Amino acid sequence: MSLGGFQSGFHARKVPPAEVKWASFLICSHGCAEIIQLISHVSGEVEFELCRIEAERMGRVLLEAASSQDDCE
Ligand SMILES: [Zn+2]
Repeated sequence: MSLGGFQSGFHARKVPPAEVKWASFLICSHGCAEIIQLISHVSGEVEFELCRIEAERMGRVLLEAASSQDDCE
């Protein structure tokens, strides 16, 4: 299931934990039933994956960073 993407060149999809690509690198102590993968438009490969809770945290961090008042114009 594709969940949309962004112009940096990735789209996201959700998979069950059994379909994780790099299980040894996945940090999840919550027992999440859903893993979000970012797939590169260029390579078609899974470039990044994280569990739902970590994805929500990452989203908040990105929103905070994007909305912070900094002199990067
Ligand atoms: Zn988790």
